[in-house]
Amino acid sequence: MKLNDNIQYLKGIGEKRAELFHKLGIFTVGDLLYHLPRGFEDRTNIRNICDLVDGETVCVRGILASGLRKFRARRGGWVVQTTLSDGTGVMRLTWFNATYIDKSLSDPEAEYMFYGKVSYRTMTAEMVNPIIEKLENEGEKAKKMGMIVPIYPATAGLNQRSIRDAVKRALDGLDDRFCEILPESVRSRNGLIGINDAIRRVHDPADYDEFYEARRRLVFEEFLKLQLGVSSVKSVKKSRRAVVIGDVKCIAEFARGLNFDLTNAQKRVINEISADLKSGVPMNRLVQGDVGSGKTIVAAAAMFAVARCGCQSAMMAPTEILAEQHYKTLKKYFDPWGIKVAFLSGGQSAKERAANTEVIESGAAAVVVGTHAVITDKVNFKNLALSITDEQHRFGVGQRSKLINKGMNVHTLVMTATPIPRTLSLVIYGDLDISIIDELPPGRKPVRTVALAEAQRARLYDFVLRELDRGRQAYFVCALVEDSETVEAKAASEYVKKLSAGVLRGRNVGLLHGRMKTAEKEDVMRRFAAGEIEALVATTVIEVGVDVPNATIMVIENAERFGLAQLHQLRGRVGRGADQAYCVMFGNAKSGVAKERMKVMCETNDGFKISEKDLELRGPGEFFGTRQHGLPEMKIGNFFTDMDILKETQTEAARIIKSDPFLSAPEHRLLLDSITETFAKAGDILN
Ligand code: ADP
Ligand code: MG
Repeated sequence: MKLNDNIQYLKGIGEKRAELFHKLGIFTVGDLLYHLPRGFEDRTNIRNICDLVDGETVCVRGILASGLRKFRARRGGWVVQTTLSDGTGVMRLTWFNATYIDKSLSDPEAEYMFYGKVSYRTMTAEMVNPIIEKLENEGEKAKKMGMIVPIYPATAGLNQRSIRDAVKRALDGLDDRFCEILPESVRSRNGLIGINDAIRRVHDPADYDEFYEARRRLVFEEFLKLQLGVSSVKSVKKSRRAVVIGDVKCIAEFARGLNFDLTNAQKRVINEISADLKSGVPMNRLVQGDVGSGKTIVAAAAMFAVARCGCQSAMMAPTEILAEQHYKTLKKYFDPWGIKVAFLSGGQSAKERAANTEVIESGAAAVVVGTHAVITDKVNFKNLALSITDEQHRFGVGQRSKLINKGMNVHTLVMTATPIPRTLSLVIYGDLDISIIDELPPGRKPVRTVALAEAQRARLYDFVLRELDRGRQAYFVCALVEDSETVEAKAASEYVKKLSAGVLRGRNVGLLHGRMKTAEKEDVMRRFAAGEIEALVATTVIEVGVDVPNATIMVIENAERFGLAQLHQLRGRVGRGADQAYCVMFGNAKSGVAKERMKVMCETNDGFKISEKDLELRGPGEFFGTRQHGLPEMKIGNFFTDMDILKETQTEAARIIKSDPFLSAPEHRLLLDSITETFAKAGDILN
């Protein structure tokens, strides 16, 4: 049997069953062998029912003491229940949404084995959705005892036993080998076993150690390919030529003109950027800095040097409001130097737009600001040398590359306020160099954050009014009710009515939501920034980037509906000046996770800690679908639970890339082919 053979070659797999395997992505014998167990059933841990302890995961065996009961759950869906007796006691077994279970338990005489987590919600022990194994005959019973048995990802209608049998047949009947793509040197340096041993042992290990050793080898290979893939993209980019921005010293002059001193972190990052700009190699740099750390001025410094060199820069923001704000800020910085800034917005009239595109094409405007879509569509630059993306995490990879294609090997700078652990940024942003602004401008006080109950609302309002009387400003944010701008706009409109008729009666109140016309939005933002509007009622359109330092109060309604990263971003709208700022969350957090989010917010202002907690609460899948980053999906490894292996592969990848940046050495040939194939399937970033 060959690896490429259809799984129907395996005994016991007909057309019907093959279809079930297809659902798991298994088409060939090779696919089947790469379908790895997600864990093991410890058959050495068979327990008496009378000794079971709440919360432990164990095996029990016995006969069914009652028939199967099948009924509708309150929330719909079928529940199947039965009781198991092993002579020491009885326990309840329950399956949810698993109607096919009765087929697996059809023999009232048979002895069965169940594997799962024990719970003691009532007086009797219970297992919910345990794995079922029918013990066929005495010989098998004896053999199965004291073994560890793989548990595979399964699908309805295809049970553990069928998968296990198929794998066993495949392993026994195989007269073919997996191709070893890891060079001997890599394997010996990292203590990795060969691919064929790894595949065999991962399915049929003698003990746990053997399983983990085998799995580590497979995860290592998967991670190494990924890391080498992104790292070699970096090598390719570095082999290109870019405009040399000769005079970066002029940045010092620009900095002297500011009404504040740059922080040491800002200076360091500007130096890193300057070195890139004058190197002749395209810059590919990510700047990470918490909300309020002062990323905009760093970007402006880079654009200044580029403009002085006679070239153009473009800066993209994810929202119109933010783009407009950047335009104002940059104009303020650049007007005194006679550097023209052009602004492109979706809300502009055809005439305005034409005028702007013209100064961009002629090169008269050295700096261009806008939302991403506006800048990329139908705009031609005379000599674009630098592209900057603000709040990069709001854009997909596809959009990122679209902009880079606007100029020949332009320098790129991407900025984000969402920090992630270094090991992970080496994967996600592996094709970029990373600079970190790890210092806030002086005099910033941490935002005082509280979660209040309804009963405390009146007192909070008193406090807000006192702050407004002192000349401070406030945001009132209402949550996304549905994933729809229209519904959201309506909610905000009602909220503003309620506030204006109540607590904010007689005050200057503004409203901002995504459904308003560009000109209206601009007007409201301008009046809020100028202090005319005292309280701004808004939807999450203000979530990223907005900078009005005099605003010191952020009131968030229905805070339980926001994610942690979002709450932190919203809070980041205040505390941008020297005054003490406050963030108040109202919300009815019923779920444990929502409560935990509020607690974390109250405990820390540190974006790094918050993002780690966010990872933990949301889980890796949601935190970043690799898809969103254009990276291939990981089939075996898990970035979080396999963090140690990820680190090892990063060290190894760095070593390989250092000696062979394009993986062109003969010993890396197979590895390179395999990487190219994997990335081609993911269909992005390598192209
Ligand atoms: P973010 O990193 O969130 O994009 P911004 O660039 O919007 O932050 O800066 C936040 C505020 O801090 C702005 O009002 C900016 O003018 C101010 N700022 C930036 N750097 C400094 C500094 N070194 N000293 C004082 N204020 C600064
Ligand atoms: Mg910003």
